[in-house]
Amino acid sequence: MYKKAINGFTTAMKGMSLTFRHLFASNAKRKVISVSDDNYFKQLEGTNTIQYPHQKLPVPEVGRYQLDVEMDDCIVCDLCAKICPVDCITIDSIKATEAIGQTSDGTTKRIYAAKFDIDMAKCMYCGLCTIVCPTECIVMTNQYDKSVFELKNLNYEFVDMAPEVAAEKRQLLENQLAERQAAKLAAMNKKEGDA
Ligand code: SF4
Ligand code: SF4
Repeated sequence: MYKKAINGFTTAMKGMSLTFRHLFASNAKRKVISVSDDNYFKQLEGTNTIQYPHQKLPVPEVGRYQLDVEMDDCIVCDLCAKICPVDCITIDSIKATEAIGQTSDGTTKRIYAAKFDIDMAKCMYCGLCTIVCPTECIVMTNQYDKSVFELKNLNYEFVDMAPEVAAEKRQLLENQLAERQAAKLAAMNKKEGDA
């Protein structure tokens, strides 16, 4: 009986010491330190609050957060949209009638993007689009706090081509295709006439 009472008392004291340890640790605020600091994950002890948004924790460089696209380097190959498992990348491409420039890695650009949208509300941050991109122009940034009041505002538009400009470029392409077709027919007719 005496032993049981001692055991009960010891157990209660252990439980209380744990409770008090957490109680006092909860007053400790998390410090803003670099992810490369050895103590980064030790910060998980105690209360992990910081004065956000006045203070922000640095995030790992390899983290998966907000996507960004450097359109100057995009060759509008559509690979990112094709591999996206949730179809949240929408691209409307228009073939140019001639080369329209070069990316920073020297790849020739031959396609216009009339539309390049990423719906981050649907994105599951798998990162596949960043892996397949041949010019590495679609990347995960370190931005994670893109809160919005309306869901539609999570659709990011990376291109601002006016509909009339897009229509003009489509017309130019159609004209070029029609000219090529006419030249091909003329060549065939000439060949048949010579035969
Ligand atoms: S990270 Fe994944 S889900 Fe998000 S846009 Fe890229 S491929 Fe799609
Ligand atoms: S994979 Fe890269 S280059 Fe191709 S359309 Fe997507 S962002 Fe542009």
